Amino acid sequence: MAGRSVDVLVVGLGPAGSRAAAEAARGGCAVVAVDRRRAAGHPVQCAEFVPAMIGQELDGLDAVIRQRIRAMITFVEDQAPDVWDNFPGHMIDRAAFDRTLAAAAAAAGADCRFATQVEALGTDGTARLSDGSPLRPRLVIGADGPRSAVGRAIGQVNTELVETRQITVDLKAPHAATDIFLSAGIPGGYGWLFPKGEVANLGVGVVPAAKDRLKPLLEELHRRLVEEGRLGETVLGHTGGAIPVGGLLGLQGRLGDLPVLLAGDAAGLTNPVTGAGINAAVVSGGLAGQAARQWLDGAAEALDEYAEEVAELFGGALERAVGRRREILRSYQAGPGPDAAALRRGWIAYPEYWAA
Ligand SMILES: Cc1cc2nc3c(=O)[nH]c(=O)nc-3n(C[C@H](O)[C@H](O)[C@H](O)COP(=O)(O)OP(=O)(O)OC[C@H]3O[C@@H](n4cnc5c(N)ncnc54)[C@H](O)[C@@H]3O)c2cc1C
Repeated sequence: MAGRSVDVLVVGLGPAGSRAAAEAARGGCAVVAVDRRRAAGHPVQCAEFVPAMIGQELDGLDAVIRQRIRAMITFVEDQAPDVWDNFPGHMIDRAAFDRTLAAAAAAAGADCRFATQVEALGTDGTARLSDGSPLRPRLVIGADGPRSAVGRAIGQVNTELVETRQITVDLKAPHAATDIFLSAGIPGGYGWLFPKGEVANLGVGVVPAAKDRLKPLLEELHRRLVEEGRLGETVLGHTGGAIPVGGLLGLQGRLGDLPVLLAGDAAGLTNPVTGAGINAAVVSGGLAGQAARQWLDGAAEALDEYAEEVAELFGGALERAVGRRREILRSYQAGPGPDAAALRRGWIAYPEYWAA
């Protein structure tokens, strides 16, 4: 199949893909970036928390911040909550965040196409798009999320996932903390209440085998917080989605002669304990775009260096999180599941989590 030649094809225009497209295009590469969604960031499948340090990576973040976060409060079963005072972050408007990043990619010169899916990637180096245009890229960046087809094509698959369900509800009083609910009754995940001005995102994540318990678990958490006078009863919105929790995948591969890089969720960069992946998507996407540009400029080692740098940045944290999460999962095989001490050891707010 013949096709139009481009330097870089970016699959996915979430945070990872938009940053990759922007960085590759900024260096003068001919970039086509596609997303099957009709519009950037829509529908939102996110609890919308980002760590404060993400600001170092991005211009224009202020415009999408909806509220500041100062602390994390962890509820372990029905025990008194533990407050971690130094947990700075932002609640963002994720749709506006993704739109801003995609607009920056287009402004840098990338040909960004929504409502366009990559239908096939051939080992002959061609890509078939749903808009009918075959492409012949010199390099592909897979930023196509937790169930990445690009990753699958090079044998890198997120085999461990957490399934989630989230509602948006009224918040009865201002709150500047992310609340985390840990319980043996929420297997392989946790509940969250993230405040966003006058509303809050309330959600639950669990292992796929417990997916049918998501709805009752979320209803129960919602009811409890309504009874405590913290939340309104009316559900203003629903979302959900899969989170990769198996840890880092191979960050590069080949389809025939065609080099392929993975970034963001497609590369398994989301933290398996917290489910946070926006920052890693932004960072890895930017680095993948830079590596593509350097490789196309003749730097043969740029792709290996990308893989090394991303592994160095995120590998240690991912490994620890995978290990802690597996300890918790093993406790269900051995008995009734984790006790309060095991839940604490499995959550980032506690020193036990960081211990050897
Ligand atoms: C319910 C929920 C809550 C979360 N909350 C948080 C949070 O509070 N903070 C945080 O940091 N992280 C959170 N995450 C994780 C975070 O959303 C992801 O880590 C982040 O979106 C990863 O960005 P990405 O660009 O790698 O992938 P995505 O944002 O998933 O983007 C991938 C894009 O690829 C497109 N795509 C897929 N296949 C194709 C194809 N074949 N052709 C064309 N396009 C394709 C998709 O349409 C999508 O737009 C949450 C996730 C979920 C599900």
